[in-house]
Amino acid sequence: MTDIKTALITGASRGIGNAIARELKDNGYEVLGTATSDSGVKLIQDQGIGGYVLDLNSSDSLVNFWDQIEAENKNISVLINNAGITRDNIVLRMSDDEWSDIMNVHLNGTFQLCKRALKMMLKSKWGRVINISSASASIGNRGQSNYAAAKAGVEAFTKSLAKEVGKRDITINAVAPGFITTDMTEQNKGVNAEYLMKEIPLGRFGEAEEVANLVNFLCSSKASYITGQTIHINGGLYM
Ligand code: NAP
Repeated sequence: MTDIKTALITGASRGIGNAIARELKDNGYEVLGTATSDSGVKLIQDQGIGGYVLDLNSSDSLVNFWDQIEAENKNISVLINNAGITRDNIVLRMSDDEWSDIMNVHLNGTFQLCKRALKMMLKSKWGRVINISSASASIGNRGQSNYAAAKAGVEAFTKSLAKEVGKRDITINAVAPGFITTDMTEQNKGVNAEYLMKEIPLGRFGEAEEVANLVNFLCSSKASYITGQTIHINGGLYM
């Protein structure tokens, strides 16, 4: 394989995904990133990163996206399943759409992209997949039964896939952040900030760049004997 590895990061327009995209670019990868809109794609491209439209809640979008990747002869050897949304509600009030949107984006999206990218990794006989999970998968969260269930599914999927492809030098890991400062956690910061800080031994939210550093390590040759793991990064919120 060539020296320059190609990394695909879903949800690279903002937050953790954008930090990962920049970190991997700085470390010499060819980076491809996705957003749901043309304006998001432009934000990515303005950072010198390949930008693509992908809405994981739409099977048409997934097909169009992958057609484009194949037409451009991209050979993905690093896949970061990062794109994410929340649709919080208590179970008694949760709509079917709030449930299925979360399953589509987090769990089905991870499955669909792994299935396609793995074919490229198998040919290259090398690969890295990092699935972004959440501390919610381990500790649960009131109003996030959909999100916690999807992320727990992602972690179980990670272990199973690691067993399927380990012999081909492909590692599959999950990274489970606690509270990281991004658009997703903006609402929690105001209302629950004091309570949350008490629960986090390090006494602060994490930064997207701190998650990106961990992901960069897991993608590197230094992490060659780590697979099937969920690595927690949460300031001690969950131990
Ligand atoms: P964020 O700032 O809200 O960014 C979300 C990203 O996902 C954006 O790039 C967004 O694209 C993309 N996205 C949204 N809906 C999508 C869809 N239907 N299809 C494809 N992409 C979509 O979120 P974040 O906080 O960085 O979260 C990133 C990941 O970390 C998620 O998987 C999240 O569950 C996980 N996580 C975050 C935290 C935290 O504290 N922030 C904690 C634990 C886990 P657009 O810009 O086009 O909308």
